[in-house]
Amino acid sequence: MTTIVWFRDDLRIADHPALHAAAARDEPVVGVYVLDEESPGVRPLGGAARWWLHHSLASLGERMAARGAPLVLRRGAAAEVIPSLVRELDARAVVWNRRYGGPEREIDAGVKSELRASGVEAGSFAASLLFEPWTIRTGGGTPYAVFTPFWRACQAMPAPRAPLPAPEALRGPEIAPASDRLDDWELLPTAPDWAAGLRETWRPGEPAARERLQAFLDDDVRDYERARDEPAGGATSLLSPHLRWGELSPHEVWHRALASGADAGAFLSELGWREFAWHTLYHHPDLATANLDRRFDAFPWPPLDPVALEAWRRGRTGFALVDAGMRELWHTGTMHNRVRMVVASFLVKNLLIDWRHGEEWFWDTLVDADAASNSFNWQWVAGSGADAAPFFRVFNPELQAQKFDPQRLYVRRWAPDHADGLGPMPIVDLKASRRAALDAYETVKQHP
Ligand code: FAD
Repeated sequence: MTTIVWFRDDLRIADHPALHAAAARDEPVVGVYVLDEESPGVRPLGGAARWWLHHSLASLGERMAARGAPLVLRRGAAAEVIPSLVRELDARAVVWNRRYGGPEREIDAGVKSELRASGVEAGSFAASLLFEPWTIRTGGGTPYAVFTPFWRACQAMPAPRAPLPAPEALRGPEIAPASDRLDDWELLPTAPDWAAGLRETWRPGEPAARERLQAFLDDDVRDYERARDEPAGGATSLLSPHLRWGELSPHEVWHRALASGADAGAFLSELGWREFAWHTLYHHPDLATANLDRRFDAFPWPPLDPVALEAWRRGRTGFALVDAGMRELWHTGTMHNRVRMVVASFLVKNLLIDWRHGEEWFWDTLVDADAASNSFNWQWVAGSGADAAPFFRVFNPELQAQKFDPQRLYVRRWAPDHADGLGPMPIVDLKASRRAALDAYETVKQHP
């Protein structure tokens, strides 16, 4: 009479409504994580994400085991793996926290109806967002397309619930179910091992996530609004991969930030952007591949220049801030938000390379690569997205560097060759490429 807790993007035990519900049933609990690289439409994880997942699962497995329940690892199409595990364990119920991507919702709905048809209980819970995407609607009943009224509508809703405690103890089954070995999934890079910079920078897992939140609230939150745009400042929370993998719930972050006594409004509204990105993905499941503003389908992209794309990826464009950002990304699996905007604008508007190529590179290299936030923000910069920056607003990477990195601390750290005047030659003329982008944009403007 086991209850199975199906973990997905919620690799934690505190404020985990599905685990909480399972623990309350007073039956043996088995956790499962399914590495699903087979279901149609589910996007394979990028390299940096796989690295994070390995470590986060190791941490979750330890935390579950310390409380008495196993975390079983299985590989395959979730629609087959979950029902088969139910039969194997003769389980009475399966519970999980909801996902919001299109293919994932389809899988979950299919599993739920199959389980229920065979007399097994199936329960899903709200856990990864502060506001369920379908509950926030304009007066006309449509989804929001503009951030400010969206966030205002969220704030008019009942406040996000208080976080649930981690279960103190769980009852496991008498015989532990068979599990894959994490190492056999080969999520970590080996030949070559490019993850040294990731290891230096991050500690995946729930305990480290909570320490990071505490450190941010003790220290940086007070300076957040003033310094959040300075890439060398270290004033932002660095919580994005922990939120991406659900090592912390947004509810916990929300309530702890409010309780910190600091004026956390600016920081909380960034959580609002995360909500808005998921709201947008929920209503537009093809956000990573299709322009939200369909007029951009007519954008006259020139044939892809693979040399320019590679120079951008490797941080060899000749523009200090762009190169510093791309090298920071390659080394650490993250990049400061201001610099993400600058490198994205540079790719799309100075190199005239379709935003989807940039989105794919970020998907592969970011530890926080997130189905909603990545595509949402790429489209935001490209001008085709929700409440997007207008296409004609082209970031000038040199002016951005002067404004946000005036002492060149960030450039010195990530692209010291530039700081010493030895960086590569610029691969593009800023003025001429800006002009070409604006001319190309005329086609979009004239499109009905
Ligand atoms: P903080 O400033 O401390 O913000 C707190 C939290 O709010 C973040 O951890 C994050 O969860 C959320 N947040 C902040 N800004 C945004 C935003 N613009 N959109 C959505 N959520 C936000 N963020 C991702 O989590 N995953 C991505 O794949 C991703 N891709 C991006 C691609 C581009 C081109 C751009 C311009 C931005 C992208 N972002 C993405 C948003 C943002 O850059 C990161 O969330 C932020 O840099 C993370 O640092 P932090 O945790 O210190 O943020």
